[in-house]
Amino acid sequence: MTEQHNSARRRFLAAGGGLAAASLSLPGLAQAPHRAGPDRPLPPLIGRATDVLLPRGAKRRAVICGGGWGGVSAAHHLRQFAPELEVVMLERNPVFFSCPMSNKWLVDVVDTQFLTKDYLKVSEARGYRFIQTEILEIERDRKRVITSSGAIDYDYLILSPGIRYNYEAWFGNDRRAADATRARFPAAYIPSAEHFHLKQAIHDFKGGDLVMTLPPPPQRCPPSPYERACLIAALFKAKKLKARIIILDHKDGVRPIGPGFRAAFEELYKDIITYVPNAHVKEVDPFNKRIKTAAGDFDFDHAILMAPHQAGDLAWKAGVVGQAFQGGPDGWAAVDPLFLHAENDKDVYVIGDAVGYVSPQFSFYPKAGHVANRHARSVAWYIGEREAGREPSYRLPDNLCFMMVNNAPQEAISVKFEYRVNAMGIIEQTQTDFNERKPETVGEDFEWARGIYEDMFG
Ligand SMILES: Cc1cc2nc3c(=O)[nH]c(=O)nc-3n(C[C@H](O)[C@H](O)[C@H](O)COP(=O)(O)OP(=O)(O)OC[C@H]3O[C@@H](n4cnc5c(N)ncnc54)[C@H](O)[C@@H]3O)c2cc1C
Repeated sequence: MTEQHNSARRRFLAAGGGLAAASLSLPGLAQAPHRAGPDRPLPPLIGRATDVLLPRGAKRRAVICGGGWGGVSAAHHLRQFAPELEVVMLERNPVFFSCPMSNKWLVDVVDTQFLTKDYLKVSEARGYRFIQTEILEIERDRKRVITSSGAIDYDYLILSPGIRYNYEAWFGNDRRAADATRARFPAAYIPSAEHFHLKQAIHDFKGGDLVMTLPPPPQRCPPSPYERACLIAALFKAKKLKARIIILDHKDGVRPIGPGFRAAFEELYKDIITYVPNAHVKEVDPFNKRIKTAAGDFDFDHAILMAPHQAGDLAWKAGVVGQAFQGGPDGWAAVDPLFLHAENDKDVYVIGDAVGYVSPQFSFYPKAGHVANRHARSVAWYIGEREAGREPSYRLPDNLCFMMVNNAPQEAISVKFEYRVNAMGIIEQTQTDFNERKPETVGEDFEWARGIYEDMFG
């Protein structure tokens, strides 16, 4: 090791010590001794929930909770629209793993590298701070986020926590059944361990009945379960497996892009895909591989069991989940429909899938990565305007979604959503389905992915 290296290392350690010392002097936080036990002090850069994660500097600060599609997009756009702010993104996972394009990854159309991105690299390049940590609590009264490695204060908070599975709707407080369902028959709708489990399961599948449950709306990416069914069916067809895929849909029909998907089921996978509408789940038994629905009972050899979706845990911890008309929580963040700040807190913005009811015409924005990216851009712009002392005007998202339904030859269908505010001040949605299967649409899908990745990761 060179002397230059040693002195750089000494400076680094000294800075680390200074940081820990500074952090413990912040007001309002419990000042826990930095020790593992009486004789075993912790190194200064190992934080506890009671430490300060990042001391305050001179700049005002935006903290982003969740580094998925919304969070990463928000971090980038904040650096553009509010360059004077310190931007910190908190995320539990070490690498970004994309749900969009993951159905194609399940059947080897794209590889793992296509779905994963390096948080450290992008945050360094784009000038924000990424901290890998588990967010434990959000104390809005003190404008503070508590993580497993320390607490961090904010001026603006952006919540992009994605979804959680509402297993309580199926199992009440039976954690054993919920854990068994997630471990054995994961939905693979939250990145990323579940995805690897599912991929292995479908590649190992030897034939028989594969059941998929589809949750009631609103749900993450409504067309994607049908895309998944088609691509798994294409795999089984190529392997000449004697297998059925039974789609148990809570809804009364396939949508969006219903005619396009139904044509694929009937024309390409007639002997493989069975579509069952109105299959409201009544009972799930992950131990005996049995499911009871309003449309009949089903035994299965393997299953993709998707419990109803709700806003991710962090929306609940932040106390921003709305109330249902009939009482009780409605499961999604209550936001100002145009400006996306929490109904009860103007300094807390919610973006992406966690966003709740926004319009009497269409209720919820599609829970799509594209929308999360657009929300992020709008919210970053609102914050930039506020920081510049201006009153922001609203910016609405759009949405585009491409769904691959055939792998040989590769063909896809798609759907587009546009938004406007009408004379009554209500957000209106226009949906256009493109039902015809086309190889060109696959090309558009990859173009879309490249473009949006470029925006998020450079
Ligand atoms: C199979 C599939 C296909 C899809 N296809 C498309 C598509 O083609 N096009 C499209 O636009 N969308 C698609 N989507 C939808 C898209 O994935 C979501 O809409 C998008 O990820 C929403 O972004 P988000 O930021 O709200 O949530 P997420 O991307 O899920 O990000 C939430 C982040 O918060 C983190 N987090 C949560 N809690 C904590 C905590 N306590 N501490 C630290 N970190 C935490 C999570 O780890 C996660 O990284 C698809 C989804 C699936 C499942």
